[in-house]
Amino acid sequence: MFSKYADNLRLSELLRYFKIISKKPNIINFVNGLPDPRTVPVNEIEEILNQVIKEYSVTAFQYSITCGIKELKDQIIELVKNRGIYGVNENNICITVGSQEALYMLFSIFINPGDSVAVENPTYISALETLRTLNPNFKGINITNNGYEMDSLRESNAKLLYTVPSAQNPSGYTLSLKERKKIIELAHENNTTIIEDDTYGFLLFDNYVPSMKSLDDEDRVIYVGSMSKIFSSGLRIGWIIANEKVIEKIEALKQNINAHSPTINQLLTAEAIRSGVIDRNIINARNIYRLKSEIMKNEIMKNLGDKIEFISPTGGMFFFLWLKDIDTEKLLEKAINNNVAYLPGKYFYHDMSGYNTIRLSYSYPNEKEIVEGIKRLSEIIY
Ligand code: PMP
Repeated sequence: MFSKYADNLRLSELLRYFKIISKKPNIINFVNGLPDPRTVPVNEIEEILNQVIKEYSVTAFQYSITCGIKELKDQIIELVKNRGIYGVNENNICITVGSQEALYMLFSIFINPGDSVAVENPTYISALETLRTLNPNFKGINITNNGYEMDSLRESNAKLLYTVPSAQNPSGYTLSLKERKKIIELAHENNTTIIEDDTYGFLLFDNYVPSMKSLDDEDRVIYVGSMSKIFSSGLRIGWIIANEKVIEKIEALKQNINAHSPTINQLLTAEAIRSGVIDRNIINARNIYRLKSEIMKNEIMKNLGDKIEFISPTGGMFFFLWLKDIDTEKLLEKAINNNVAYLPGKYFYHDMSGYNTIRLSYSYPNEKEIVEGIKRLSEIIY
């Protein structure tokens, strides 16, 4: 009945876990990457919304152009200067429905079945799930607590590299400036297009590293950004920065998908950037997540230190643990019985190879829950 494309569609593994967990009210949930409620500036949003509706009236609720309204593009051009990106003009930007739509569209315009696509092992689960529908030839680049496996990237001869170089989901790893330059050099040798997913780039705690895009003078890096972790995930605002040829294809595809991102959400976001609300909110979110990550780190070291290895997160929302020869999917049942839940890390590996890994999200649980959750976890990990 269905097309070949539809045959490749699967519901996210995450949903399965959400369903199990939602039935247990007392569980401590390290599964979802839901932003901390305190990082959504609801009062400012209310004020700006009123102001925008007064100023734009019906226009705020009308159709608008496919790749986004000028007001927001102009503000994004300003915002990404914080990531070292200069010289962007309106024809280099497309506003998307979250960065997820950006990734879906970019993968669709670049990948034919069988094309070699390099991804970090581990990498962002939903990017992997989107990529799988296109049947690429995956090339994994291991990230371990020893760093980034450059040789695999060199040997991959990939057409496309999907990378999350800053405060990566799930590993918390941030590529150093030197590593970024090396990747761009290898991409030059192999003529690889790089998709840089900078969803957490504004949430680096202390160690500012400029985006890959800012280091690229060959126009081979395509930058993807998101408002989800620094303003509001529900508004579904993301963006792509790329050369005009790429943006033209994206615009044609987006016309077919949803015509444009919601006008009112774009106006609201533009004003939030212009008025400094987002700059302030970034500092607030960074402080909240830094503190939570420190609490989680202390508890992990105290309770699990000799049983696991981990990368200390440099930003973002996640810890990634390597256990000693334990199948973490099997272990999850025990964890759930002990009222704590995590995501088995293997789902972040294109080949499901990380059977002994765990992703812990500290973004949503409060400080007390983080302490208690790690204690519960330590009771079932030997
Ligand atoms: N990329 C990464 C690395 C993410 O972690 C997420 C959200 N968890 C996204 C993209 C998608 O974010 P959104 O669509 O909300 O912008």
